[in-house]
Amino acid sequence: MADLPPIRPGMVIGILGGGQLGRMLATAAADLGFSCHIYCPDPKSPAFAVAAARTIAPYDDAAALAAFAGSVDLITFEFENIPLETLHTLGTQAPVLPGPMSLEKTQDRLVEKAMVAELGIAVPPFAPVADQADIYSALARTGRPALLKTRRLGYDGKGQALVRAGDDPVAAWRTIGEKPAILEAFVPFEREISVILARGRDGATRAFDIAENVHAEGILSTSKVPAAISAELAEEAVAVARQIAEALDHVGVLAVEMFVSSDNRTRLLVNEIAPRVHNSGHWTMDGCTFSQFEQHIRAIAGWPLGDTRRHSDVTMDNLIGDAVDTWPTVAAEADARLHLYGKAETRPGRKMGHVNRMRPTSTR
Ligand code: AMP
Repeated sequence: MADLPPIRPGMVIGILGGGQLGRMLATAAADLGFSCHIYCPDPKSPAFAVAAARTIAPYDDAAALAAFAGSVDLITFEFENIPLETLHTLGTQAPVLPGPMSLEKTQDRLVEKAMVAELGIAVPPFAPVADQADIYSALARTGRPALLKTRRLGYDGKGQALVRAGDDPVAAWRTIGEKPAILEAFVPFEREISVILARGRDGATRAFDIAENVHAEGILSTSKVPAAISAELAEEAVAVARQIAEALDHVGVLAVEMFVSSDNRTRLLVNEIAPRVHNSGHWTMDGCTFSQFEQHIRAIAGWPLGDTRRHSDVTMDNLIGDAVDTWPTVAAEADARLHLYGKAETRPGRKMGHVNRMRPTSTR
């Protein structure tokens, strides 16, 4: 990547995906003088409103992809469920960062867990479930309770089913749509944390302070910094994220979600990797000088990474579904910064915005 010249203000960054992450990436890019071209099949994409150009086309539309690649100086993505083939095709015409390996290893939960385990990093016990008959042998490996998750396209708790003691595992198999899956031991975790780390083109890395996350029904509801963990554990978590970023030769921001277990032998277990900016890093927009979004743009552009020090403690609350209707009250709070995604339609479970509530920084 060292031979790729940095991109300069005025150049165009292409972003695959037009959701709220694309929207916040495009805004951060605009602040640095870049303009963004968003590529997304959904004509109602919230990122379109803040971008200089848009392409509305499927991810396998060869002509649209070629025109898109020809109109930008650098390409990145805001989510990992883009066909790998699309990235390879685009890569023949324009630099794509992060590279295809980051996508390949993280868009399939089984491939991802196997890679992390091979690196010698702890993960919950897991086993593949290719068809219904595999569930019983997989349960013998994981024990109960266990979570059955589709290998692909699951997010925000979708494509998951719990198998408790006494449950019929075939019912879980049906719930997830009888798709190739991974069965994971259910971890009785003390807390959930995530590391948001950036890796530059030159291999330099910087991590933000670790966030402590609370999920409700599989969807992130709150991220809080600082996390209530020791400095040693925080250092260990960052080292794990760095090792993963290096193994992927990742360039850009990467998030690693982890469980802190009460088992003193294995305190940290990796749950999931996102090869992109992440919801649990939204607090950086108001808690740090440089947000995760600007950090990603800096990393892929070949610019120096921004400082990651936290200047405020932050609690980030997602505004999911109808919770967005609280905006007038939030707007009247002194230390709350409201970030709304401009989505036309409110639906249950849909991320409509978030609010960062700041406090003077503590010492941790
Ligand atoms: P995921 O989509 O895999 O990140 O799962 C969403 C949420 O479900 C996680 O953040 C956890 O709260 C919970 N979860 C997922 N996997 C496990 C597990 N193996 N043990 C306990 N909780 C889990």
